[in-house]
Amino acid sequence: MTETNYPRYRAYGLHNLDKIAQLALLPASFRHHLEMAAQVLPFRTNNYVVNELIDWTDIPADPMFQLTFPQPGMLPAREAMHLRTRMAGKPSKARIKEAVREIQTGMNPHPAEQATLNVPHLQGRPLAGLQHKYPETLLIFPREGQTCHAFCTYCFRWAQFCGMEKLRFACQDPMAPSRYLDAHPEITDVLITGGDPLVMRTRALRRYIDPLLARRDNRPATIRLGTKSLAYWPYRFFADGDADDLMRLLEQIVTSGRHLAIMAHFTHPRELETPAVEKAIARLKDVGATIRCQSPIVRHVNDSSEVWRGMWQRQVALGAVPYYMFVARDTGPEKYFRLPLARTWMIYSEALRRVSGLGRTVRGPSMSASPGKVLLDGVAEINGERVFALKFLQGRNPAWVNRVFFARYDDQAAWFDDLKPAFGQQEFFFEADYRRIKATADETLMTADQG
Ligand SMILES: *Cc1c(COP(=O)(O)O)cnc(C)c1O
Ligand code: SF4
Repeated sequence: MTETNYPRYRAYGLHNLDKIAQLALLPASFRHHLEMAAQVLPFRTNNYVVNELIDWTDIPADPMFQLTFPQPGMLPAREAMHLRTRMAGKPSKARIKEAVREIQTGMNPHPAEQATLNVPHLQGRPLAGLQHKYPETLLIFPREGQTCHAFCTYCFRWAQFCGMEKLRFACQDPMAPSRYLDAHPEITDVLITGGDPLVMRTRALRRYIDPLLARRDNRPATIRLGTKSLAYWPYRFFADGDADDLMRLLEQIVTSGRHLAIMAHFTHPRELETPAVEKAIARLKDVGATIRCQSPIVRHVNDSSEVWRGMWQRQVALGAVPYYMFVARDTGPEKYFRLPLARTWMIYSEALRRVSGLGRTVRGPSMSASPGKVLLDGVAEINGERVFALKFLQGRNPAWVNRVFFARYDDQAAWFDDLKPAFGQQEFFFEADYRRIKATADETLMTADQG
């Protein structure tokens, strides 16, 4: 088969909606609503998602459609009405932009404290585009990888993609990670992430990976690539012009004696069904990569145990490893996607019960909160009080990890911040320690600013 049999990548956004033939078959009002929502939320999709993933006979309910096309319900109702009024008649571009910014600002565009607490320093200077939150793993956000082959409507980096936020996490110096490794012997894993680093050309990606492979101390022992390309553009791995080159680069990581982990973001089993994704996964396995799978759980897209059971089973069948189920963050169209933790836990448990042990490698539901990754481990009754059992899978202080603690059961709570300590306690066990860590970090930052 020649390469010309495969489609070439074609991005769609607000500016070329009319190129999506399938949309023409939908009622005009529908397209109008889409255009409104896409003013506020980042929107980008492509010919693979449109032609091979979305089921156009089931619009708007189709989960793949919900995943990449902003929906009217994703905007807060009052603001949506406001925007509709503003858009009536022929408002100037500036007027529209102003209204759009107002709505965006009201949608918690900057969740957590990532910008300050996780930025590593070397000799008193901040290293842009690196993150070091947990001792063993360094994150790299290469500048060229801070976009995606399509955007997920639930993305917590949405503010960055619609230009609200500067690219705070953008590394332009491929040597910086290695210098940082020199100063931090505790780091074993490097995670190259984004956005999606596999939107980068292989040549650009290689500039970040070569210095890691050139090290004499065999660190990092593991290189991870965080990507949604298997789901959104599997042709990246066998049909793109530099796909073979990419495979050579990945193979080099493995032959250097390192573990190569593709941290694959799969949201729905449909993403694992196409011939293209099968072929891409087979190729990755050929070069010796391990594929570990993770996704948030959200309403309208994957909020059923059947979907998760199907997804984990299919991952195992393809030789991939179910790894994390995340709780979606409290940002953007969060209310649209919001699921009570109690329900999330039920879905997780029911799905887990119906796969074999090979599928039960998945950990979750996990909340990436400011103090760490918090696992919702179960619902229990202790001395007559209904509680959530929690524990840290990762913590800013590793001493917190794997210690069980309890929050009052709350059938409305949907995020870690909604939880209160059980048994009448004033605060969770880690909070005093966490305050101390934050105070120390603030001090370091202040010193660094002055230096
Ligand atoms: C999840 C995460 C990691 C990796 O954690 P593992 O449990 O090793 O997969 C590293 N850094 C950050 C900031 C994370 O959120
Ligand atoms: S692939 Fe990840 S970074 Fe990209 S839009 Fe989806 S959630 Fe956001």
